[in-house]
Order: sequence, then C-alpha cells, then structure tokens
Amino acid sequence: GPPARSDQRGTVNQPTPEQPVDVVARLRATFRTGRTKPVVWRTTQLRRLRELLTTHGEDLAAALHADLGKSSTEAFRTEINFVVREIDHTLEHLDDWLRPESAPVPAHLGEDATAWTQYDPLGVVLVIAPWNYPAQLLLAPMVGALAAGNAVVVKPSELAPATSAFLARFLPEYLDTDAVAVVEGGIPETTALLAERFDHIFYTGNGTVGRIVMTAAAQHLTPVTLELGGKSPAFVDRDADLSVVADRLARGKFLNAGQTCVAPDYVLTDPETARALEPALVKAVEDLYGSDASTSTEYGRIINERHFDRLSGLLGSGRVVVGGGSDRATKYIAPTVLADVDPDSPVMGEEIFGPVLPIVTVPGLDEALEFINDRDKPLALYVFTESDVTRERLAAETSSGGLGFGLPLAHLTVSDLPFGGVGESGMGNYHGRYSIETFSHRKAVLEKPLS
Ligand code: NAD
Repeated sequence: GPPARSDQRGTVNQPTPEQPVDVVARLRATFRTGRTKPVVWRTTQLRRLRELLTTHGEDLAAALHADLGKSSTEAFRTEINFVVREIDHTLEHLDDWLRPESAPVPAHLGEDATAWTQYDPLGVVLVIAPWNYPAQLLLAPMVGALAAGNAVVVKPSELAPATSAFLARFLPEYLDTDAVAVVEGGIPETTALLAERFDHIFYTGNGTVGRIVMTAAAQHLTPVTLELGGKSPAFVDRDADLSVVADRLARGKFLNAGQTCVAPDYVLTDPETARALEPALVKAVEDLYGSDASTSTEYGRIINERHFDRLSGLLGSGRVVVGGGSDRATKYIAPTVLADVDPDSPVMGEEIFGPVLPIVTVPGLDEALEFINDRDKPLALYVFTESDVTRERLAAETSSGGLGFGLPLAHLTVSDLPFGGVGESGMGNYHGRYSIETFSHRKAVLEKPLS
C-alpha cells in the first residue's frame, strides 16, 4: 500500500476518533438493517465475549490490579468469572426468556381472537460504567443489552484507565464493531454522548451524575436505569453468633477495599452487642489480612488521591477498634472499624465507599427501624438475627434495593434475582432475565382472524 501520509505539521496521520454523533448514527444504521435481532447473532456476540474473557482473563486481571490493586483472586471472582457466569446463564435460558407469552382474551373479542406479548429490542443502548468494578459493571449490562438484540455503546470509567484501555482494545477485536462501540473518556466525552438520542441509557455511579444522565435522557424521552449507591446498613441482633457475623461483615466490607456499592456501610446494633462485636471484628480482619493488611496480596487500594483524602478525613469519626492507618503514596487505607460513632459525624454523612466500618448504637429493634427509615432508601440492607419476628419486621417495615439475611453482597450473585436500587439508590434493575426486561420493549399483540 501507499506510505503513511503526513499532515502539514509533519506528524503521521492518526485516524481521528469517531465523534459520538457518528458512532450512534453508525450503530443505528446497523440496527435498522435487522442484523442484531436474530437470536443467533446475539448468542454469537455472547460467545465471543466469553472467549475474550477466557483468552485474555490474565490481561484483564492485570489491568484491574493496575487500577485498584485488585488481587487476581478477586478480579476473577468478582469481575471476570462473574461476567462469564452471567453469559452462561443467559445462553442457557435466552430462548425461554424471549418466548412470547400468551394472554387470555376477553369474551367480547370472540373465541377466535388471540393475544400475546413479544420482546422487541429497543435499538441503540448506552451503558456508562463506574470505576469500582470497572469490568463487571460495564460488561454485565452489555451482556443483557446484546442478549435483548440491541446495538450498544459502552463508556468505561476514565478513573480506571488500564481497564478502560483493555476494553477499548479488545471489545472491538471480538465483537461486531458495527453494533458495539467503546467510547473512552471522562466528563466532556460523556456529555457529548448524552446529547445524542439513545433508546435506553444504563448508568451506574452516583446520584449527582444520575440526575445529569436523567436530565439529558429526558430531552429525548429516553428511559433510564440508574444503578446508584447509598449507605447500606447492617443490623446485628443480640442473639446472633458474633464470630460468624464479624467474619461475614469483614469479608463484605473490605472486599475491593470497601469500594463496593452493596458493601455494608455501617453496623447498627445495641450497645452491649457493639462491645462484644469489637473483638470479633478485630479477629476477623486479622484472619483475612494478617496483622498488617498493607502486606497482604489480597487487600486492594483506593482508586485515587481524591478518594484517599476523602476517606482519610473519615478516620477520626470514632474510636479506632482496628486499623486506622493509611499511606497516601500507595493509596492504602487499613481495614478500619470505628466504635462510639455519633450519627451526626462525617462518616455517617455520606456513603463511605471505602474500608471504614462505623458501629452506631441504638437501644433496640424499634429504634433501628426508625434509624433506617429516617434516611434514604439504601441499595442493600443486611440483617443478622436468629429471630423470625425480627426478620419479618425488617423485611416488612423497611425499603431497600435488596435485602440480605446473614450474608452481605451475596444476593447480587443470584442470577435469577433482580439487582437494582429504589429511591435514592436508583431505579430499574438487571441480571439474567431482568436484563431482558430492561433492554426490551414488551409489545402487546392482538390477532383477530379475518375469516
Ligand atoms: P464514576 O466517577 O466512575 O462515574 C461513573 C460514570 O459517570 C463514569 O463513566 C464517568 O465518566 C461518568 N461521569 C462522571 N461525571 C460525569 C458528568 N458530570 N457528566 C456525565 N458523566 C459523568 O463513578 P462514581 O460515581 O464515583 O462511582 C461510585 C458510586 O457508584 C457510588 O455511589 C456507588 O455506590 C455507586 N455504584 C453503584 C453500583 C450499583 O450497581 N448500584 C455499582 C457500583 C457503584
């Protein structure tokens, strides 16, 4: 071929990155051809994505380590294999989920009339992902969007640059580039994307940006799914086995250095149980990460200096039971438990999103219910109790995106449960068949024979 041309400044011509308006137009043109609709196109894309994850899993794990100090164990468990399982579950059940469902027809339409629902893809979908699980939270929604027969634009988080670069490099290599596009960038690029018309926008992140996304979507009457966060409480009853509770709390809280949207944000318990829980939590942290978590290969780091500084400012909100140390150079914050925490202290003001676990005390169950209901509806509520009455009361008298009895985080790994928030923790949900609901239009069809 001809040698690379140089422009007037003498640099080799780079292809200019495709503008959002062109990306969306190109994908919409593909969608209009009907190419993404056959189930075989959809399953081919999912199989290709699976192949990418199994072939380049180690590369992706390395990117996650570069961005978040995520251990390989964690990277595979909570991101790579998580998405592989979501793919496998979808491949296994997709035909079932897409099957038209017949509806009984009222008598006035006559006995020969029939009615059913049909799942139609929406068109071109935008997925905007955050930095904390930068692979899972981009790819799992994308699996649903593709399985439902859409074209998809994905926008990785600029705050996890190594993962963003991995996705930008490999997704186009494995997937149908006329129907799947990766747009990298931060606020300017996302703002430009949001000006375009999409058929659905799926955003994971914080409520402030959630409002920006919803405002932009409103200009085009585009439906949105908002996967947001909040302070997820963990209620510990006095009858619970505290060594089991402490172990499960510590695992859920300190995974990914606390940067998990469904992490238990704070412990809510009575004063006596709080005192007994303290040594149990010290032991649980040491069992997980040793006496100095900075030397543990399993313990992650804070995403950037801004969040490090924010979290460092929260370490003084109570009496340090375990942890409390930090190192700005390596963005390390020790797994920390704080006791005697005032509900009005900074650590109780906003979602912590880091490895700090405050213990707040209330006299009993009634006050705990009041405490929870006085605040925004959380993404998750965790309850540790042996009492059926307590379980039933918390289930019936509070509202949260999800509810976990005895084990934090685990509900989101159940593919047949919807995952999403309510109120300030978001709207809409996904995973498994719920992703098909989110990324499809359920079309009502009626047929009355002409003869
Ligand atoms: P983030 O800063 O990476 O933001 C998410 C996305 O929004 C990024 O792609 C970013 O580029 C984009 N963005 C940021 N500012 C923007 C703006 N002004 N205009 C347009 N786009 C913009 O992630 P984050 O918000 O720091 O993530 C943490 C929050 O996400 C926490 O509140 C957490 O609870 C929540 N979260 C929720 C879930 C869930 O599934 N519900 C999962 C993970 C995180």
